[in-house]
Amino acid sequence: MDQIFSKIEEKSVLSKEEVVKLLSVDTTSAEFYRLLYLARKYSEETFANRGYVFAQIGINAEPCSVNCKFCSMAAGHYVLPNRWQKNADEVIEGVKQLVLDRADDIFLMTTADYPVEKFIEIGKAVRPHIPAEIRLVSNIGDIDQPTARRLKEAGFTGAYHIVRMRESVDTQAPVEQRVRTLDAIRDAGLELYYCVEPIGPEHSYEEIAEEIFRAKDYRVEAMAAMRRTPVEGTPLCAYGAISTPELCKIAAVTLLAVRPTRSMNVHEVTEMSLLAGVNQLYAEAGANPRDVDDNTENNRGFNTAALRKMLENSGYTFQ
Ligand code: SF4
Repeated sequence: MDQIFSKIEEKSVLSKEEVVKLLSVDTTSAEFYRLLYLARKYSEETFANRGYVFAQIGINAEPCSVNCKFCSMAAGHYVLPNRWQKNADEVIEGVKQLVLDRADDIFLMTTADYPVEKFIEIGKAVRPHIPAEIRLVSNIGDIDQPTARRLKEAGFTGAYHIVRMRESVDTQAPVEQRVRTLDAIRDAGLELYYCVEPIGPEHSYEEIAEEIFRAKDYRVEAMAAMRRTPVEGTPLCAYGAISTPELCKIAAVTLLAVRPTRSMNVHEVTEMSLLAGVNQLYAEAGANPRDVDDNTENNRGFNTAALRKMLENSGYTFQ
C-alpha cells in the first residue's frame, strides 16, 4: 500500500490493479484515513477549495422502457404516485429559481423515452433565462452525434451520460449503445459529466474499477460516484445499500484515479463524503429515479442553500 500511496503523492498514473487494491482498503483502517487525506489534498491543490452546487430538474415522471431494476420510473415496476410532464413555462420557472438560488450548473433530466425534439425545444426556451456563465447540461436517453450537435446549438454546454453498473443486465440498454452516446457527446464538443453509479453491495471492486477507468479514458472534468438508493418496490431494493464510509472510500479512489480538473461529487448527499475531497453536491427537484415522491424536493432532494452551507462548513468557498 505504501508504494501505491507514494505513487499518488508523485501524481503518477495508477493501474487498474492498484485501483482495485485501494478500493479493497478496510474502512476502519489507518490506510482508509490516509486515502481520505490524499483525496482531500488533491481536491485542495486542484480545485483550490472551490465549492460547487449543481442543480437538476427531472422534467417528466412517466414509465420508462429501459426498465432499470433500481429505478422508481421503470415501466415494469413504476412506483411513483403520478405521471406528468412539465411544460416549457414550468421548466423556465424552475430554472429561474435555480439561477436566483445561485446554482453553478443546471441539469435538465428526462426518462429515456421522452421525445428528444421536445427536449431540444425546452432547452432553447430556458437558455435565455440562464446567464452565460452558468452551464446547461442534459441528462436524457441515448442519442446520436447529430442530436448531440443540436443540443449544443440549443444552448446546452454539456451532457450527463454513463455506462451504469451492470448495464444491460440490470437495465435494458446495451452497453455499446451507451458508449456510442458517450462518443457522440464528446465528438459534438459537449462537456461529458460522468459518474460511477449506481453502486450496490453486490458489485465487485473490479466492476467499480472498470467504470472508473472508463471515465478516465474520457478525461472528464466533473466526476462523481453514487451509491444505489434502495427504492421500495424496485427489484434491486432487497440488496440494500453500501455504507457511507464505503461510498466515501470509493469517492476518494475515484477522485485519485480519474483526476478530474473541476469537481468531484458524491450522490446522494452525505456530509461525510466532504472528507474525501468532494467539492460538489447536487440539489434536485421534480422526478427522480431514487425517490418514491414525484417531486423529490419534498422528500429526498436537497436545495441549493443547504448544500452551499454544508460545503462552506467543510472549508469550501464560493465566488
Ligand atoms: S434510470 Fe433512467 S433509463 Fe433507467 S428506467 Fe429510470 S428513467 Fe429509464
